[in-house]
Amino acid sequence: MKLYRFLRGDREFYGVEDKEGALAVIKGSPFGEFEKTGVEYKKEDVKILSPSLPSKIIAVGLNYKKHAEELNMALPEEPIIFFKPPTAVIAAGDEIIYPEMSKRVDYEAELGIIIKHEIFNVSKENALQHILGYCCANDVTARDLQKKDKQWTRAKSFNTFCPLGPCCVDNIDPDNLKISTRLNGKAVQSSSTSNFIFKVSYIVSFISRIMTLLPGDVILTGTPSGVGPVKKGDVLEVGIEGIGTLSNKVV
Ligand code: MG
Repeated sequence: MKLYRFLRGDREFYGVEDKEGALAVIKGSPFGEFEKTGVEYKKEDVKILSPSLPSKIIAVGLNYKKHAEELNMALPEEPIIFFKPPTAVIAAGDEIIYPEMSKRVDYEAELGIIIKHEIFNVSKENALQHILGYCCANDVTARDLQKKDKQWTRAKSFNTFCPLGPCCVDNIDPDNLKISTRLNGKAVQSSSTSNFIFKVSYIVSFISRIMTLLPGDVILTGTPSGVGPVKKGDVLEVGIEGIGTLSNKVV
């Protein structure tokens, strides 16, 4: 199922894309029971929103061996996690604002996990059943500030630094998906989530042993190698097999 959150006029809906380009409006909640209303909108006639409005975004650093190597960082024994604020979220098609405070802003293509239920302390065997689905994400990072500050909060938290979308997809194997970034049409990151150091079920279980996860919360699963800088005017496209493409321009 491909689930979209969108605006039609000034009204917000969730819709399911059963046939290409058509969004079937649902009533109820995607986090609980829902059914189709029979109303359908064309994708080009709506404004796509981020698939979720998370209460928090927890990101995993260094979850691909080659990315740890390119940053000259040791492989973690446990997931290294940090927060991005919900105010950083933007949707597919929205603009990433290059902040004045930074001289070096990087893209980071990541698989996003959207949590379905309120959970605390779940086992890795039970973790997957509490996931609503998966989306493309871009963990936009002010790399100069990440290196300068001991905490990563500033580098990861600027407004617009968390593009999510274009939709939320379930029934895919999250640990075996091709993932890529194109910068102005040129491939700059290309890998597979099969290269994860920590798999999705382990990550969800691990974080749930620390904090309660709420419906809609988002976990970013780390980026593969090939990160690099952007400049104003660039167009970034994060593509994940089975989900689609998350495209954002830097301004
Ligand atoms: Mg990252």
